[in-house]
Amino acid sequence: MEKRPRVGYLCMEWGLDPSLPLYAGGLGILAGDILKAAYDLRFPMVGVGILWRQGYVRQVVEDGRVIDAYPRYDDVRLQLQETGVDVTVEIRRRPVRIKVWRLDGRSRPEGARHAPLFLLDTDLPDNADRWITGQLYGWFGEERVAQEMVLGIGGVRALQALGLEPELFHFNEGHAVLAGLELIRQGMEQGLPFEQAWQAARRRIVFTTHTPVKEGNEVHPLDLLEYMGAFCGLNRRQMIRIGGDPFQMTVAALRLARAANGVSELHGRTARRMWADVTNAPPIQGITNGVHVPTWQDPQMAAAYASGEDLWAVHQSLKQELIDFVERRTGVRLALDRLLIGFARRAAPYKRADLIFRDPDVIGPLLESGRVQIIFSGKAHPLDDRGHEIVQSLIAMQRRYPRAVVFLPDYDMAIARMVTRGADVWLNNPRRPMEASGTSGMKAAINGVLNLSVLDGWWPEACRHGENGWQIGGGYEGPDADAHDARSLYETLMGEVLPAYEGDRARWVRMMRESIASVVERFSASRMLQRYAEALYRGGAAEPVAGR
Ligand SMILES: *Cc1c(COP(=O)(O)O)cnc(C)c1O
Repeated sequence: MEKRPRVGYLCMEWGLDPSLPLYAGGLGILAGDILKAAYDLRFPMVGVGILWRQGYVRQVVEDGRVIDAYPRYDDVRLQLQETGVDVTVEIRRRPVRIKVWRLDGRSRPEGARHAPLFLLDTDLPDNADRWITGQLYGWFGEERVAQEMVLGIGGVRALQALGLEPELFHFNEGHAVLAGLELIRQGMEQGLPFEQAWQAARRRIVFTTHTPVKEGNEVHPLDLLEYMGAFCGLNRRQMIRIGGDPFQMTVAALRLARAANGVSELHGRTARRMWADVTNAPPIQGITNGVHVPTWQDPQMAAAYASGEDLWAVHQSLKQELIDFVERRTGVRLALDRLLIGFARRAAPYKRADLIFRDPDVIGPLLESGRVQIIFSGKAHPLDDRGHEIVQSLIAMQRRYPRAVVFLPDYDMAIARMVTRGADVWLNNPRRPMEASGTSGMKAAINGVLNLSVLDGWWPEACRHGENGWQIGGGYEGPDADAHDARSLYETLMGEVLPAYEGDRARWVRMMRESIASVVERFSASRMLQRYAEALYRGGAAEPVAGR
């Protein structure tokens, strides 16, 4: 049995291990890395999430086409423990029973242990609405609200029923917002007027925002929320004061939290600008993400770095492992002694996976001669047609340059782990300032894989051009950014990266060492959790002023 935790960390997705397909991307990996850091630092935290029956979409490629698949993950339950606890939430005026499972992180191998995670599950034989916890980010509005009711309202009730009610609730993204309304409802039930119940709830909530695009922030019609039962006993006027009409989840989260943060310094500034006209919000700080080092740094590389040994030999063996992995999966055999670029991330348009192909006259000869090889991986959101087109276009490039370009379908933690340790260079070219953080670059950096990246997300804080990696684009945010950044990418690739790789091994290895040195502590999940403790959890943030 746990002690009562200080923090209950609520997140829609959890990326703890490749065998637990409960995540879609960076948001979930971040949550998983924090829970591991909490274990390492003995920080009193528990996680709350959802036991997704079909996980997130899986993608296979057949005849050059992407096909979405949703297998059932029945055996995931074998890794979980019964808590004997279930809670009920009324959704669409019907009681939905939610079973609470426990994932005990202490029994995992060293380096992968984590604080406890409680998973909510509606897939029970006596539930009419058992499919609510079916698919992560699948389906549309009504189902999404039902899922958010399970996470938020169900999450609060689950921790209370377990005897683990935390001092603080940390909302990782706006999906958990209804937890705040549930706390207000409970305050009013105990006799507090709405205003006081709101303030009392607010003293117990902190919020991390991740999405630097307005359209990426979820909005729900009030009528829908009312019909679903998501008002939690509040009236329409009170709901509008918190989230507006229509109800904006990020606005509501800001007005329910006593402290908030974006996930890098640059993203903190972007978020402050985006939400500047939201009254009654706490200041949005910039607290840069970090990665769980034992999860993401290869142990041989860590050992070689620590003892001052030759990093090159270790790197080459990791690269060979990646090359073998690619051959097993795709049949393509890449060359060990030629520059290998890695690019693996969700197939979102702003990430511009195909930017490097913009001018075939420049990139074509480099690929045809085999001087440059690229491994891509990525998954498109099931409802995102543009994302599917991006994957499709990468597959077309693989056909066009069959010896130099490979696409690995079904991007997941296992692929991320292989590519962020086995490539020579980690390419990242989002349209600035849309990449809030970009933790895959940190994973690469701590393995001595050199970042070649637009100055977006975390990279402006870490980059020393030509010493621990390279920047692209000089922070440009003006018109024709694609043409501008592609030109800069080509110049740096041909003028600096290739000459260093092909001509100056000693310099390359110095840069690898510098890459690890400058990132491994400053951008670790432990450091991030310590910053959260100081700046969010310790009441370090200013108390919000009602009404401003
Ligand atoms: C680290 C990771 C991410 C996040 O990386 P970004 O740099 O934000 O794209 C996404 N998906 C997986 C599987 C990861 O391991």
